[in-house]
Amino acid sequence: MSSKLFFLAIAALHPYEAVEPHMGTLFSIKLYAGDEKSAKQAFQAAFARIAQLDETLSDYKAESELTRVTLSSRAALSGDLFTVLSKGQWLSAQTDGAFDVTLGPLTHLWRQARRAHQLPSAEVLQEALSRSGFRKMHMDGQSVRFDVSGMQLDVGGIAKGYAADEALAVLSKLGIKSALVVASGDLAFSDAPPGEEGWKVAIEALDRPLLLTNAAVSTSGSAEQNFVVNGVRYSHIIDPKTGLGLTTSVTTTVIAPHGIDADGMATAINVLGLERGLAFIEKQSGVAAAFLIDQERRVVFSNRWPVAARSTLTPATDRLRRSERRP
Ligand code: ADP
Ligand code: MG
Repeated sequence: MSSKLFFLAIAALHPYEAVEPHMGTLFSIKLYAGDEKSAKQAFQAAFARIAQLDETLSDYKAESELTRVTLSSRAALSGDLFTVLSKGQWLSAQTDGAFDVTLGPLTHLWRQARRAHQLPSAEVLQEALSRSGFRKMHMDGQSVRFDVSGMQLDVGGIAKGYAADEALAVLSKLGIKSALVVASGDLAFSDAPPGEEGWKVAIEALDRPLLLTNAAVSTSGSAEQNFVVNGVRYSHIIDPKTGLGLTTSVTTTVIAPHGIDADGMATAINVLGLERGLAFIEKQSGVAAAFLIDQERRVVFSNRWPVAARSTLTPATDRLRRSERRP
């Protein structure tokens, strides 16, 4: 292609944006396409794929494959559920169970506790813990097996990142090479917008944006979802050791080649905390992380965090102060 033709091809692309509710949040897609008709088709296909994943992976839906699988002691898995559970089990093994997709009984208790503004009793907690734990779940071939009955899966810590990856894959098959998928704290994007060097990703509490292509960025923390009992704030991320929400206030952001990794790892290192979280991140190739220690208003970057995007906190958007202002 001559450089003039190449320029024309780029100039012919226009930005389009669409938003739909899925997986209990809003998914927003931005893409570059030649005309409105192909953009519309692309949105339809990408959102249909996300909806399909919600049907498969939801722990809120009685009919989802995820829910059905936990009702049997052994079950064959679809490719999607297999991918997500395998990644979950890998993360559990790498983090000594800090990340754990079998915490369903505990995340369900957390939701009840938040509604009732009351912590579960020690007995109830103990019973839920006895039905949780990644070592009681076994993957072999394309199927899964559980050691005890009444286990419940919750892939909420990883599903949105995977859905973002899959939406990008659908768009790519339709010839859309430059797109961004955002689902609350999870972002994934393909090639840079035409004429740009990359996607500019602003992280709320940091004052310098990232400029990235073909990567994913996920943020985890308790700023948006938490509840307070007796002056203690409990995150919606569960500490598998206690069965209760984390009471530490760390916001973690991970940059990784794929959304499934960025999402899962951001949740995992939120549980691991600064020291163990950093040690885990430094071992992963192509992965970087930032830890925002809310109480100390301090941010710590892993070695691979892009130098140009290292910065101090933006005081006005300090996470802890924001959440303290909540009723
Ligand atoms: P969000 O879903 O708010 O974007 P995360 O990606 O960090 O944030 O996922 C939090 C969700 O992950 C919880 O709502 C719950 O469904 C699930 N979860 C909670 N604790 C854990 C844990 N220790 N390991 C894996 N998943 C968890
Ligand atoms: Mg996550």
